[in-house]
Amino acid sequence: MARVYNFSAGPSMLPEEVLKQAADEMLDYQGSGQSVMEMSHRSKVYDKIIKDAEADLREIMNIPDNYKVLFLQGGASTQFAMIPMNLMTKNGKADFVITGQWAKKAYEEAARYGDAKAVASSKDKTFSYIPKVEKSDFRPDADYVHICLNNTIYGTKWNILPDTGDVPLVADISSNILSEPIDVSKFGVLFAGAQKNVACAGVTIVIIREDLIGNAMDITPTMLNYKIHADSDSLYNTPPCYAIYIAGLTFKWIKKMGGLEAMKELNEKKAKLLYDFLDSSKLFKGTVVPEDRSLMNVPFVTGDEELDAKFVKESTAAGFVNLKGHRSVGGMRASIYNAMPYEGVEKLVEFMKKFEAENSK
Ligand SMILES: *Cc1c(COP(=O)(O)O)cnc(C)c1O
Repeated sequence: MARVYNFSAGPSMLPEEVLKQAADEMLDYQGSGQSVMEMSHRSKVYDKIIKDAEADLREIMNIPDNYKVLFLQGGASTQFAMIPMNLMTKNGKADFVITGQWAKKAYEEAARYGDAKAVASSKDKTFSYIPKVEKSDFRPDADYVHICLNNTIYGTKWNILPDTGDVPLVADISSNILSEPIDVSKFGVLFAGAQKNVACAGVTIVIIREDLIGNAMDITPTMLNYKIHADSDSLYNTPPCYAIYIAGLTFKWIKKMGGLEAMKELNEKKAKLLYDFLDSSKLFKGTVVPEDRSLMNVPFVTGDEELDAKFVKESTAAGFVNLKGHRSVGGMRASIYNAMPYEGVEKLVEFMKKFEAENSK
């Protein structure tokens, strides 16, 4: 069996060890005689799976005790409505920094529930940088400030967090969760869909400071109320059982790898290899300003659409799949999440060098 190097932005590669363990346990999870897919979510054996997953995540991310960890459904996109319904309830205001499509979607969704304000945007240069914002750009009476910490489509990352004063900072970390340490205490809410760096699609992780729970709007559907899920330890209704189990296996894998400091080191090494090549290449060019580059998503172009298409075609044939860029940026994008081995990036760079030699005039 030949596995490809999968550079998909999501769903994306999972650690081979995780997949193998899931395969081994498919028919009989640890002597229970059942697959995790078949188990009651109220059973003792499943209870241990979900409790261990939470405990391991808390340990890896160093999550303070005054934060709840929730395993929800609906993807990161559902959080775009859930956050305003639960948080935009003191002054009915929230501020957004528009760094790409995901931040814009969050802003547009929140605008349906209150006074949403876009305080800055990097649309003028196709979101190729993170706008500089000052504390004075934010409304001091906003209920929260929303940012997208890593912009999956455009390949930018906030390397310095904005100063929002006492206003809670809410961050979408769908594409950089677990890629490096994050100081959770600087945020009111962190959320991520699992399918980029954690598990198969189906579970959404929400890490929320306790004082932000319990203030939902009256119209909030039961299933979109953080308090409902927090009070029942993510077991109000049937959770996405299997995705939580896979997430748990990934958390154990990360612990074995040495935790988030070790992941950061590995991710920086992988990203440096690719960015250094892009900076030295005469054919390929990165699209993001160096100081705001993502460790996870690396968009690049040749400047010639036909050549881009040729590269995508030839790289796919060579076993480097899903390198086609997002339709809004064009060109290529290599998503190099935790599960992408160093060797995968090394081989991609070799392939790009060969392509450059064959296609330079
Ligand atoms: C993929 C992604 C989303 C959307 O996630 P869904 O789980 O598909 O709703 C939102 N934000 C970011 C940053 C993403 O990368």
